[in-house]
Amino acid sequence: MTYITAAKTSGGCVFCEALSGSDDRKSLLLARRDRAFLILNRYPYAAGHLMAVINRHVGTLPEATADEVAGAMKLLSPLHRGTTCMCRWSTIPAPAIRP
Ligand SMILES: [Zn+2]
Repeated sequence: MTYITAAKTSGGCVFCEALSGSDDRKSLLLARRDRAFLILNRYPYAAGHLMAVINRHVGTLPEATADEVAGAMKLLSPLHRGTTCMCRWSTIPAPAIRP
């Protein structure tokens, strides 16, 4: 409910703001790479909802290049191999990913 009722502090893109910010912990940003980054959903539908986001702002997935999409998928692939945690913060539990 806070998300809906809270005053909006900016009209910018939440992903671009997280990527350009300097406080990854506050932004829930878990990993940065050349073409994409991993971020937790601040208001998840399920615990540990991770998102792989390309670094360049685009409006739709087809606007992303093949290299950008590959960069995002590369960030997710360790999770599917059963990696226990790729988080930079030791306080965040590894997401429960099933094959
Ligand atoms: Zn953006």
